[in-house]
Amino acid sequence: MVKRNINTRRLGAFPRRVLVTGGAGFLGSHLCERLLQAGNDVLCADNLFTGARRNIKHLLDFHNFEFLRHDVTFPLYVEVDEIYNLACPASPIHYQHDPVQTTKTSVHGAINMLGLAKRVGAKILQASTSEVYGDPHQHPQREEYWGNVNPIGIRSCYDEGKRCAETLFFDYHRQHNLPIKVARIFNTFGPRMHPNDGRVVSNFIVQALHNEPITIYGDGSQTRSFCYVDDLIEGLVRLMNTEPAVTGPINIGNPAEFTIRTLAEMVVELTGSSSAICYLPLPGDDPKQRCPDIAKARALLGWEPKLALREGLSLTIAYFEQFFRSAASAGACE
Ligand code: NAD
Ligand code: UDP
Repeated sequence: MVKRNINTRRLGAFPRRVLVTGGAGFLGSHLCERLLQAGNDVLCADNLFTGARRNIKHLLDFHNFEFLRHDVTFPLYVEVDEIYNLACPASPIHYQHDPVQTTKTSVHGAINMLGLAKRVGAKILQASTSEVYGDPHQHPQREEYWGNVNPIGIRSCYDEGKRCAETLFFDYHRQHNLPIKVARIFNTFGPRMHPNDGRVVSNFIVQALHNEPITIYGDGSQTRSFCYVDDLIEGLVRLMNTEPAVTGPINIGNPAEFTIRTLAEMVVELTGSSSAICYLPLPGDDPKQRCPDIAKARALLGWEPKLALREGLSLTIAYFEQFFRSAASAGACE
């Protein structure tokens, strides 16, 4: 008798059919590109809340790429071999815009995608986050640390939603023997971040390119560790391809730690901007420090980031310069 959760029709078949939820977003679009280059059939499902068609426009001509407008809070019935579950707004201003929907996206989205994985026997990877550590008391953060998360604050819809999603992944693994991979992603940046995304790297670059004040929240002494998008995508793909015993959670991020003030100064220097730096109130529950311990990723994935912050910033600045040039010439033609 055939076991229900084995994908018999496609066992060992190539190309693999890979579903990327949130595939029209910043990370998702880079992941779709990378998976297509490796010869996979890619199905990108996204409700375009923070994602954009322009992020995947260049992929639509590939015969093995398909876009589906879909909200993961509703079930999805497709036949796939692997699922990367990235659907969820990642920027605080966006996930706080409709916090109930954010929790639903993380929790109902995880249930629906895990249910799909179970039905078709697919391997599934969750894009979790360093936010599961909250405002950490352990530094740098190792995967064994359980975190320090406010369950009722303005960031909780995202932090607790992602924590609950991790719980669901591990329960499906224990209860249904589902092959899972959980990546805890630390702050990542690069081309295709939305110019109004609200995250610190895109905010500072956009402000600097327009010679507008650089908005530091608080006194700028809080720290983050910034990973360039290509490095991050490599880490995710390596994690998906590990043997079944490797479930994670595994931190994927760049362990080089910077204060937000240093980041602001670096962006001003690299853009040659005349922007002044201004200080605004720190939002509630803003973590004071964040830095991944990536020993596990090094050992299990043979992975570590290659690009330094300065190099990644230069590439991202070049992307935004081109983005605004194209937007200006499109405007001029109207
Ligand atoms: P993003 O906002 O650019 O992308 C998220 C995508 O999910 C968007 O395309 C959006 O339209 C889509 N989406 C949102 N709600 C949806 C829903 N209900 N149904 C279908 N699609 C939906 O953000 P990103 O930076 O690309 O982040 C991708 C994933 O990685 C997220 O799950 C995020 O939590 C995680 N992550 C990102 C970072 C980072 O620094 N970029 C850090 C930690 C974790
Ligand atoms: N931040 C800032 N100015 C901005 C945007 C963000 O000083 O214009 C700060 C923010 O308060 C936080 C850090 O930069 O301390 C990183 O913020 P981001 O929203 O990028 O990510 P997260 O807080 O989720 O790590």
